Order: sequence, then C-alpha cells, then structure tokens
Amino acid sequence: MLMYHGLHANPDERGHFDPRYSVKPGMFRAQLECLREFNLAYWLPVAGEALCAIERPNNGYDRGSDYCNPVLITFDDGDASLIDTALPILEDLRLGAVFFVTRDFVGKPGMINHRALRRISRAGMVIGSHGVSHRFLNTLSRPELEIELTHSREFLEQVTGREVVLLSLPGGRGGKREIEMAGAAGYRSVFGSAPGNNQNTPAGSLIERVAITREVGLDQFRQILRWRGLASWRVRARHHALGLPKRMFGDRGYDWLRNTWVRQP
Ligand SMILES: [Zn+2]
Repeated sequence: MLMYHGLHANPDERGHFDPRYSVKPGMFRAQLECLREFNLAYWLPVAGEALCAIERPNNGYDRGSDYCNPVLITFDDGDASLIDTALPILEDLRLGAVFFVTRDFVGKPGMINHRALRRISRAGMVIGSHGVSHRFLNTLSRPELEIELTHSREFLEQVTGREVVLLSLPGGRGGKREIEMAGAAGYRSVFGSAPGNNQNTPAGSLIERVAITREVGLDQFRQILRWRGLASWRVRARHHALGLPKRMFGDRGYDWLRNTWVRQP
C-alpha cells in the first residue's frame, strides 16, 4: 500500500503537510506508469467495488510473485493538488485510488472543497475518512474518538452519496482501541502509516503503508514495490527513527520538534 499526500512542482505550494510528502507530478506519473507496466495497481472500474471489499490486506496478494500485488494507491488529508493534479493523472492512466479526507480541512485554503470531493468520488475513486479534525485519535477520550469516527463518516457519505468504510489514522497514531471502535462505527479496514507489505500482519491489525516522499526516485520506488533489500530496510529505519522522539517526547512534543526541524531552511 502506497501513501501519498500531495503533488507539487514546488513543495512550498503544499497545504497542511510536511514538504517531504509532496511528490513532483512528473515523478508521480512515472511511478504510476511503473505500476501499470507490471499490472500491479487497481484499475479504475475495479476501485470502487474491490477496495471497499478489502477485509484483510493479505487477500489480494500473490505470494508467489516478486512484487506486492496488487498495490493500493492512497492519499491522506485532502490537499487541493488531488483534484488539480492527481485525479487527471489517475484518470489518464485508468487507475483507481483511495482518498482519505479530513472533514474540517474540506473547503480550507489549499485543500479540496465539497465540489472537488464529489467529483473525485464520481470519477470512481474511493473516499475514506481521515477524521474530523486531524487530532491524533490515540490522544482522545472515548466520546471524542466516537465523534471523530462517526461525524467524519456521515459528512463524507452525505457529500458523496456513497458508503464510507475505510479509515486512515491521522498521524498513523492508534492501535487496538481505535481499531475496535472504528469497527463498531462501521469501518471495515483501518490504515496506519507504519511501513510494510502487509504479508505478516495478523487479521484485525492496521494496514501498513509506505509513505512515498519527494526524494523517492524510480529505482527506489521499484525496490519498495519488491519490499526487500536495502530500500525496505531504509524505509523502516527512517520510520523507527521518527518514532523514537515520538516515544520520548509524546505526540505534542514530537510535533513541535518535527515542525521546528522541518521549517528550518
Ligand atoms: Zn494526515
């Protein structure tokens, strides 16, 4: 599973996220062409039905293959570039993707609005929830968590007129409690942001996703698809390195620390 946030020629045009998560549009297209070449990604007409039916991430994998197959393209947050740049490229290549949208970001500067959200859904893409406020779900009380899960889902279903059954955790934060409550709220699958190829994850756990960052080139992208050797090790090491200050300073301290670093020129 691949995780994107936005596509920008210049990373300063981004909306709400870290510039490392902004991928150049030309590179995104090249990565998708690579997926098409190996017949790895979901095709557009399949996306709506098949992706909603995902119960366990392992279901669609061909264990005998050299690659993870199939690959799911996902986007988090709802950046404006998703309608301007990502959707035309996906449609051009006839590929489907999941767009995880945060309710309170819709209509904000730099983010998609209601109309764009409807258009993405009508184009055959799957819309999933990314919470109401983007607060980290593991920091919330049960009633607060319940509101994040249900209000975001109801909002997205109202705007798109389609059932919303997929959730991605803001900041990838959450575990057993969040998965259980998401299931009770009607979600069928919960996506995290720990990297992996979902081959060793037990049923009912978070779906692993690899964040595609701006520095990932085509060679590294192909290695990530194969998920072995140095590339997978490097992606995992980076994720754990970011997790260390998170554990040391807590979520709030970690965000302060990360923002302080990232904003440095
Ligand atoms: Zn997010």
